[in-house]
Amino acid sequence: ERQELGRMRRLSSRMASGEKISLQANLELPAELPLIAQSGAAGIGLLRTEFLFINAETLPDEATQYDIYAAIVSTMGSDPTTIRVLDWGGEKQGEALIRAGIVGRDSINPALGVRGIRLLLEHPDLLETQFAAILRAAAKGPVRVLLPMVTVASEIVAAREIYERVARRLKRKGIETGESLPPLGVMVETPAAALTAGHLAQYADFLAIGSNDLTMYTLAADRASSEVLALYNPLHPAVLRMIGEVLSAAFLERCPVSVCGEIAGNPRLIPLLIGLGCRSFSMSASMVPRVKQIVRNISYNDCRLLARRVLAETDIREIGRLLDGFQHG
Ligand code: PEP
Ligand code: MG
Repeated sequence: ERQELGRMRRLSSRMASGEKISLQANLELPAELPLIAQSGAAGIGLLRTEFLFINAETLPDEATQYDIYAAIVSTMGSDPTTIRVLDWGGEKQGEALIRAGIVGRDSINPALGVRGIRLLLEHPDLLETQFAAILRAAAKGPVRVLLPMVTVASEIVAAREIYERVARRLKRKGIETGESLPPLGVMVETPAAALTAGHLAQYADFLAIGSNDLTMYTLAADRASSEVLALYNPLHPAVLRMIGEVLSAAFLERCPVSVCGEIAGNPRLIPLLIGLGCRSFSMSASMVPRVKQIVRNISYNDCRLLARRVLAETDIREIGRLLDGFQHG
């Protein structure tokens, strides 16, 4: 079995029925980089940059960030690296931003407060520094940039203005960046973003569905709380319908879209997500060979049929049974 999964690395991620599925990896810590290279992932679909900020003594400056991004982008060679700007807040907290006086110690409800893109737009210097480091790293290989926790198009407009301004400044100074401006994408991880995904897609170069937070906000169940663990279930029809809507809206707008929350690496959900219209997944590197094996053995028509059945179902346990009954070729 292990050998079989090792062999997977060199095989394509085409479905048995011929459709090409893109399998990328999430990176949370730089130590995962060798595993990503070994996994056969076609790039990094989600580079979480929180590790640079959360346990740091002080905020990382542009040079510190550049060194890390550039090293990762270089290692990935011709495969793209999707770098998400700081997603502070909720369960992602640490001392550095408190010590820097950027956030207070107490927030009444950190999951619903000034977090993600909201915080960055309130402190544009943070965003400028990070954009500059990313744009410089783009000289080393293909890069994409991702905005977290977007709920409204004006956040994309404001962030893009800063993004383009930083790019112009680097150019004026003769500092090397990539040949073209890397695509600027948006995380769809709030119900607001999911239900207006078609509109957001007009402002974003690509969308990335974050099912972890989308599940949490849709079900009003904290992803980090063991007390509501039983309620925090991405198989809830409300979550699945929303994901289906986002995939359809992105398709209509011809906007590239991927799924990058935990469900993207869950073998049980892969056929359903493909059936709902997903062609691009980003997951923990360790899951890439297993997911590829599944993708290679299933057909698109079977996935479509499964998705149709699941969307017609309202009972979570029945949805689970439909997934378990799916024949993996
Ligand atoms: C998500 O919310 O699903 C996601 C991919 O981002 P994170 O897990 O980092 O919040
Ligand atoms: Mg998230």
